[in-house]
Amino acid sequence: MIIKNVNIITRNKILNNYCIEINDGIITNIAKDISTDNYIDGLGRFLSPGFVDMHIHGGGGYDFLDENIETYQKITYAHMIHGTTSMVPTLVASSVEDLKKAIIRYKNAKDYKCNLLGLHLEGPYLNRAQCGAINVDYLHNPDIKEINGLIELANGAITRVTLAPELANSDELIKLLKENNITVSIGHSNATFDVVKDTYKNGATLITHFYSGCSSITRKNGYRILGIIEAGYLIDDLDIEIIADGSHLPIDLLKYIYKFKNHEHISLITDAMRAAGTNLKETYLGKMGEGTPCVIEDGVAKLKDRSAFAGSIATCDLLVKNMLKAGVGLNDAINMVTINPIKALGSKYKKGEIKVGNDADIVLFDEKIDISLVIINGEITYKK
Ligand SMILES: [Zn+2]
Repeated sequence: MIIKNVNIITRNKILNNYCIEINDGIITNIAKDISTDNYIDGLGRFLSPGFVDMHIHGGGGYDFLDENIETYQKITYAHMIHGTTSMVPTLVASSVEDLKKAIIRYKNAKDYKCNLLGLHLEGPYLNRAQCGAINVDYLHNPDIKEINGLIELANGAITRVTLAPELANSDELIKLLKENNITVSIGHSNATFDVVKDTYKNGATLITHFYSGCSSITRKNGYRILGIIEAGYLIDDLDIEIIADGSHLPIDLLKYIYKFKNHEHISLITDAMRAAGTNLKETYLGKMGEGTPCVIEDGVAKLKDRSAFAGSIATCDLLVKNMLKAGVGLNDAINMVTINPIKALGSKYKKGEIKVGNDADIVLFDEKIDISLVIINGEITYKK
């Protein structure tokens, strides 16, 4: 497959009016011209690496906890048509039985429409004081036997775990996760700066949805004590992920984050719940019928009493649009939803960047970030 007449977004620059060649699912040539009569005309649009969403619970009316044969197909399709070519299905804290069933469903998933880069366990080892919309009944201190059982069942399919490092037994938990090559992320936590520093030294590399469920400055006997937010800014190499839906983090806060954090360590996530890509006005966060009831209004999911958000309904194209609104350049905005999450997951995949030898996960869009073509592993999966 050859695509001509596109502006290719690479990591550092945009190659105007270029061509790209794909063979057997791999990018094999990037050139000013490739002589052939048989090609796709990109019509002067942008050609970007496919979007990578490393924190996503659902979409298209489904949640990854749903016991439905269509779950993976529906969620991946709803996001794929908005440019997502890889995702990390995220399981919110639930009963161990439900997590086990969800892990088995992941391993048996069929007919999904984008790459699946392993599972993200968001809990259950989280601080109840920072639960957000998560059901506190499922949150508890790290249980090594329990997590060992899940890791063994998953057999390599757990990519990342979000945990609150101030809880008892966290050091042992982190050690086990690192031994299994699992990205350790700090979130739903009241950790102080000192605890975050120690956790970073022990191998944590990421902060889960920065500003949501994260401690900040508190005062004790008059003294100010820093939290996770300050650690995110002060520890240069600590990655952060942000829900750039414009609601969880308003545009001015996106601007602020970009100004003070090295953009190479910022990843965009949807943290989308089941209503993403639908017109649902009322639904559940978590497993259908058992989860927390919520309403959708003003472009975000809220708890029924409107006391807190209950997840986003964003798709990745919206995240990019919001970063552009925040004044971020197109290259940096695209890196944040492509190569940066791939690096945050440990650079285990040949994805996230348009270069020869990488998987041909590609999206085409215009200057309004309106997606017109999606290619995954060299196959066209969506055409507007
Ligand atoms: Zn989440």
